[in-house]
Amino acid sequence: MRLIIGREIIEMLIEMTKNANVEVCGFLLGRRDGEGVLVSEVRKVRNRLNSPSAFEMEPVEMVRVIDEAEERGLEVVGIFHSHLKCPPVPSERDLEGMRNWPVVWLIVTPEGEVRAWVLREGEVEEVEIVDERR
Ligand SMILES: [Zn+2]
Repeated sequence: MRLIIGREIIEMLIEMTKNANVEVCGFLLGRRDGEGVLVSEVRKVRNRLNSPSAFEMEPVEMVRVIDEAEERGLEVVGIFHSHLKCPPVPSERDLEGMRNWPVVWLIVTPEGEVRAWVLREGEVEEVEIVDERR
């Protein structure tokens, strides 16, 4: 499994993370491409917990983003969020979320660390991040 994403999107997510004192979260939109997932856009959704150590997407905004993506022929291929004080590795709470949303989970830190994860047969597995231009 590979996550194909432009460097400029990654840079934007890191900037977003640096400029927030709560976890930022949202969706990665794009399409599936064989064993890979191609990200074309990101959509931030408000973290209704307003917490520096957890997130929950605001439901109305969340539905709006999903509807809009579908209208435009894009799929929700991933979820992104930030970790402000710990490494970009899924927490227990994230694992719970990953069971409900079995897409790629991208985690970003303000230091610019970025890693992606997916659940496969109940086990967490790292996803390779590939720069779109390569
Ligand atoms: Zn997390």
